Amino acid sequence: MKFVQPQVYLIAESRVDPAQLKEMMGALGEKTALDWLSKAESASKSDGELLTEVAGRICYKSFGVGLNPNVTKIRGTSREYLENTLAKGDGSIFEHSTCTFAFLNVSRVFTHELVRHRVGVAISQESLRYVRPTSLGFWLPPEFEGKKKEVKAIVENIEDNYASLEKAYDWNRMNFDAKKRITSALRRIAPDGMATSIIWTANHRTIRHVIAMRTAESAEAEIRYVFDKVARMMKERFPLIYQDFESIDLPDKTKVWRPKYVKV
Ligand SMILES: Cc1cc2nc3c(=O)[nH]c(=O)nc-3n(C[C@H](O)[C@H](O)[C@H](O)COP(=O)(O)OP(=O)(O)OC[C@H]3O[C@@H](n4cnc5c(N)ncnc54)[C@H](O)[C@@H]3O)c2cc1C
Repeated sequence: MKFVQPQVYLIAESRVDPAQLKEMMGALGEKTALDWLSKAESASKSDGELLTEVAGRICYKSFGVGLNPNVTKIRGTSREYLENTLAKGDGSIFEHSTCTFAFLNVSRVFTHELVRHRVGVAISQESLRYVRPTSLGFWLPPEFEGKKKEVKAIVENIEDNYASLEKAYDWNRMNFDAKKRITSALRRIAPDGMATSIIWTANHRTIRHVIAMRTAESAEAEIRYVFDKVARMMKERFPLIYQDFESIDLPDKTKVWRPKYVKV
């Protein structure tokens, strides 16, 4: 066995096609909309925020005064615009842009909690029916501080028992389907804490919600650790979408992240 640390990678995010976006804005509102676009593009830190704002502004055609006779003034900056949307709770525009994360070395405890979030997500999880582990990875929660040796002995014991049961089967004579069935049966004796991996795609409305729920002080240690990392990445990469999130330090060096605008 080896002790591991959960890892978080932001492996993909929504991108705009600048040429198509420009063509579309020209078709929609000629010079007014094109002027807005060139200002917004140069001020924007990420495509995700630009896409979200375009989606929002199309609702009232509020790329500039004059495009919609009912609109007599517009919010000037992207920060103001997105903050107003968050404050009003017009959360659906935050569904247009998504991020894809790879969470590695996370436990089955973590993945089980993560997949409870159903809305606005896509999930692909390592199949422990198909993947037969050759050794166990294990993250040591802070609660086991000072108990590393004891935990190691327990996990190694499970690993030994797993290996001896595994050896009782003649894997070389099995077809793939039989291997899958036995691998699936064997995983039942592996601990919930065994390290595995999952790819998680979610839109920003969902990411905001999950950060708030899963970095709460009462949330489980591992998911709090992972979503603290997610929150820091999102604040850095999408400062406007996450502008209302504030953090409070916890003794285990993670943070509780609370949005001013809840249930966006
Ligand atoms: C600290 C903590 C402790 C927990 N303890 C337990 C526990 O002991 N036992 C347990 O079973 N679970 C527990 N959970 C899981 C929790 O109950 C939720 O299942 C999980 O957090 C998913 O959140 P969500 O319901 O907001 O769903 P999401 O899928 O994230 O949905 C987002 C939002 O969409 C809306 N929505 C989603 N689905 C529907 C629907 N079908 N109908 C109407 N509106 C919908 C809701 O507004 C919801 O908040 C815990 C979670 C936390 C954070």
